Amino acid sequence: EIVLEKITKSFGNFQAVGTVDQVIEGGSYCCMIGPSGCGKSTLLRMIAGHETPTSGRILIGGNDVTTMRTGERGTALMFQDYALFPHLNLKDNVAFSLKIHGVAKPARQEQAMEMLARVELANLADRMPFELSGGQRQRVALARALITNPQVLLLDEPLSALDEFLRLKMRVELKRLQDDLGITFIHVTHTQPEAIALADKVIVMDHGIIEQADHPRAVYDQPYSPYIARFMGGQN
Ligand code: ATP
Ligand code: MG
Repeated sequence: EIVLEKITKSFGNFQAVGTVDQVIEGGSYCCMIGPSGCGKSTLLRMIAGHETPTSGRILIGGNDVTTMRTGERGTALMFQDYALFPHLNLKDNVAFSLKIHGVAKPARQEQAMEMLARVELANLADRMPFELSGGQRQRVALARALITNPQVLLLDEPLSALDEFLRLKMRVELKRLQDDLGITFIHVTHTQPEAIALADKVIVMDHGIIEQADHPRAVYDQPYSPYIARFMGGQN
């Protein structure tokens, strides 16, 4: 379970997030949606530990992780641009974070291969990132985020760079992966149908606050406000 307790985040005089109070159930698939600039990435980055809230607390599994470092709080963030190391093959890209965690080389390689198999890339383990398609690069990024064995996977618009066909395919795979692993996914998306298809809970943000957080059907059928109705494309 992830508890966001009265979270705010300001950059200088500008309040990007605030005030956010929300509980996200452990092992659930949560989608965060809202217009550009509404604070989705900032909120995700605070959960991941790449930003510290200006005020409020973040608890994961009952532990206060508000000021804990990235990588020590059981979260992994998958970046939008995948951020692969261009000079490392796939296996080494995936194994890299185990290296900085001090795992011995044979164990690293073995775990990296297992993770590559999970995302159906075992046969490409020796390829370099430039030799991959966009969809394959994205799977590597996924494997790399998951190899640290996170309790919470944070995905910032993971499918936005893919074409329509791959996007639908990866959507199914993300859901299956989340089911298999039984961990919490928090997935930021611009695409309403994606949120509705994937989420146990949809969080609709606007201007730094949560406008509504509910089961996708409820957000769609019983929007709290005309804004949400329009945004979700549902009935008013
Ligand atoms: P998008 O859908 O375009 O990715 P977003 O909802 O993820 O948008 P954020 O990136 O969280 O939005 O940004 C929220 C607001 O905070 C924006 O107005 C942005 O300009 C501002 N902001 C984000 N990071 C910083 C920063 N480091 N310094 C100053 N302002 C920032
Ligand atoms: Mg963003």
